[in-house]
Amino acid sequence: MEQYSILGRIGEGAHGIVFKAKQVETGETVALKKVALRKLEDGIPNQALREIKAVQEIEDNQHVVKLKDVFPHGTGFVLVFEYMLSDLSEVIRNSDRPLTESQVKGYMMMLLKGVAFCHENSIMHRDLKPANLLISSTGHLKIADFGLARVFSTQGGRLYSHQVATR
Ligand code: ADP
Ligand code: MG
Repeated sequence: MEQYSILGRIGEGAHGIVFKAKQVETGETVALKKVALRKLEDGIPNQALREIKAVQEIEDNQHVVKLKDVFPHGTGFVLVFEYMLSDLSEVIRNSDRPLTESQVKGYMMMLLKGVAFCHENSIMHRDLKPANLLISSTGHLKIADFGLARVFSTQGGRLYSHQVATR
């Protein structure tokens, strides 16, 4: 944790607190998501996290937020992500008028590319919603918050929950 200096709090959700921070050595701005172990047990499946990290190391995907590091901290652990300026729920909330058709198309295209990448790598997100779609300063959309994600088998024969969280 000494390698990072906290700049402020970005968000707080079901699985942890997210901070804006600076990596001291490189000066790079990152987002730190602190996850408590107690919540971990009923929240983030370890296997999915490992899978996501592996997937992100094999192939850098433009439309899935980059997980840069994971390390234990206190009774839980910290996930280090690339920093993103905003999320889609904020973008919608802060704009005076509805998104234009071309904006909607653009966001939808990036969302679908990100979802396709997850599915190609046998990961279902299971909590896609505007607050979990991060927007960069250049307007790029990336899927985040794999707290409810799970790895699925393409072999078939397995049954999955019909509904987990957001429809
Ligand atoms: P939770 O499981 O608590 O919902 P999220 O990963 O969705 O956690 O993060 C909560 C909020 O923090 C997001 O909705 C977003 O606004 C902000 N956030 C998360 N990750 C980042 C990031 N990498 N860069 C900037 N903001 C982020
Ligand atoms: Mg979330």
